[in-house]
Amino acid sequence: MSSTTVARTAQESIELARAASAQLEGQSAEKIVEWAAGEFGERFCVTSSFADAVLAHVVSKVVPGVPVIFLDTGLHFAETLRVRDVVQRTLPVTVRSIRPRQTVAEQDAEFGPRLYAREPDECCFLRKVEPLERALQDYDAWAAGLRRDESPSRANTPVVGFERARGKFKVSPLVLWTQADVDKYISRYNVPVNALMRQGYASVGCWPCTRRTPPGGDPRSGRWAAFDKTECGLHTSG
Ligand code: SF4
Repeated sequence: MSSTTVARTAQESIELARAASAQLEGQSAEKIVEWAAGEFGERFCVTSSFADAVLAHVVSKVVPGVPVIFLDTGLHFAETLRVRDVVQRTLPVTVRSIRPRQTVAEQDAEFGPRLYAREPDECCFLRKVEPLERALQDYDAWAAGLRRDESPSRANTPVVGFERARGKFKVSPLVLWTQADVDKYISRYNVPVNALMRQGYASVGCWPCTRRTPPGGDPRSGRWAAFDKTECGLHTSG
């Protein structure tokens, strides 16, 4: 397994991501993870918001001990923190909880209370995007649980992408999965799931910005329901 960064130009990285995506399209999640583990070795990690632990479970079967990055915004539901703790105890992974530079109280003091209700992009930048970028300094590639069926904005997600701005590869092993596939996997392996997912939440983020999802609606419509915003800025396209 490789533990050092391979020097590639941005163009070479883009070409590698394209070739890998073409080769891995339609392959199983495990095969996609095998490719990433072979290519990036110890410079490969997983991210999870712990709506469920499916991605962490899939990757840990192929890469025991894999680091799982959790962005601990300080504004998570207790149910989410419970999943994180169960995963740390029961799966062969190393959960890394990454905190923002400021506590919620410090952010309130500098920007005023409830920044999420006024400037959610700024709040997401401070509490998610900057911490993710700090965490990713230790890695060349990260796996995310994106699925094409989740929302129109995710419909074209490649299996492997190269984020030019971050200089990181993003691998999406579950890209072809449907909600039914996720449910089947959870019951087959008894994977930890956030209790809120059984209470009408199709997508779970920070408590101030997460609402129940209307039955049959866009799974991400319960996020930032008062705003024209469906992504927190973690998933850049380039
Ligand atoms: S999801 Fe809401 S509370 Fe969480 S970081 Fe983004 S704006 Fe802030």
